Amino acid sequence: MASDENPFANLQEQIDDAASYLPSDVNADVITRLKNPERVLETNLTVDMDDGSLETFTAYRSQFNGDRGPYKGGIRYHPNVSRDEVKALSGWMVYKCAVVDIPYGGAKGGIVVDPSEYSADEIERLTRSFAEELRPIIGEDQDIPAPDVNTGQREMNWIKSTYETLEHTTEPGVVTGKGIENGGSEGRVEATGRSVMLAARELFDYLDTDIEGATVAVQGYGNAGSVAATLIDDLGASVVAVSDSSGGIHDADGLDPRAVKEFKNETGSVADYEGAENVTNDDLLTLDVDLLVPAALENAVDEALARDVQADAVVEAANGPITPDADDVLRERDVTVIPDILANAGGVTVSYFEWVQNRQRFSWSEERVNDELETVIVDAFDGLVEAKETLDLPSFRIAAYVVAIQRVVDAYTGNGNWP
Ligand code: GLU
Repeated sequence: MASDENPFANLQEQIDDAASYLPSDVNADVITRLKNPERVLETNLTVDMDDGSLETFTAYRSQFNGDRGPYKGGIRYHPNVSRDEVKALSGWMVYKCAVVDIPYGGAKGGIVVDPSEYSADEIERLTRSFAEELRPIIGEDQDIPAPDVNTGQREMNWIKSTYETLEHTTEPGVVTGKGIENGGSEGRVEATGRSVMLAARELFDYLDTDIEGATVAVQGYGNAGSVAATLIDDLGASVVAVSDSSGGIHDADGLDPRAVKEFKNETGSVADYEGAENVTNDDLLTLDVDLLVPAALENAVDEALARDVQADAVVEAANGPITPDADDVLRERDVTVIPDILANAGGVTVSYFEWVQNRQRFSWSEERVNDELETVIVDAFDGLVEAKETLDLPSFRIAAYVVAIQRVVDAYTGNGNWP
């Protein structure tokens, strides 16, 4: 791994970059505290396989900071999950929740597994085993897991069921992103992609550019990427290229994001979609488009690739898709970047709405969820514009971290350093 590709080092660099711009005088020791997780659980889960054998999987949960509220963040299933990745992702959750000002700290979990290689029964046993390990440290007022890469409603339902069974209680707010019948919220599945669309819309408005007719490339066609592509297309933009881990497709006349999603559901990939030209992920990331949306994993754009990016603007749907060195290159080249901690914050924002509904034993309509989400994202975007302009900050990422770090510092200072 190149040094620029350790996500935890990248998170710490982003915090350091922004800390020098904080409007208040913040003690360096406080920044050190807020650059490191409070605790990390590492556990090995031994699971019965369908063929009677046993297999052991390493899993993590990092609770990064709880000064603003319960720890909050998803659980990812991926072969590249590592302790440092989970630590970084948990830190991004802290600053994401602070940017949109919802009352949560940040956490993240992950299991080192490629779920496509296991049966549904094996994944269920693995998930319940992890939930059992997590049980003492999660709860609706302690730490609230949610979906992330390769997890969704099914896994969240299992976590809720395991927790409630072992605790002899009903506590739907212990986890968010559940199925609707199990206490999930309307609009949660689309929420991450919806906030990406809202961030893109607000950015184009800020840049005084028409999003209607703008060309868009989306790297990654999972939940975030496919919904973002669809909703940005609904604004009248033209999605000319999309990709997933098997490759990408390009059609200068514009793709139909819904039809591409159906094709991917049927075939497992967007590659070979009829009428489009196959491209690599790197081709897609360097296409001459108005807007690039990296919606896959960390480090998609490194320093070398950043020099070839031709998009005018980037909205980050994934967590950490642009390395700090690449971010510097894009800044020098006047490519405006809306950072992950704002752009993809719709997911955790609607998780917050789900948790509020669970606690009230009351459900909101999809329209209400979407309206309240729009208010949160637009207000947060306006807050970044204000910070960027009044403090003369060099980028939206610095603005996002300045706003977020200040909120976390204020909460940390108010709570005091005890014990
Ligand atoms: N995994 C999502 C994220 O990275 C959502 C987290 C949540 O809903 O708690 O923001």
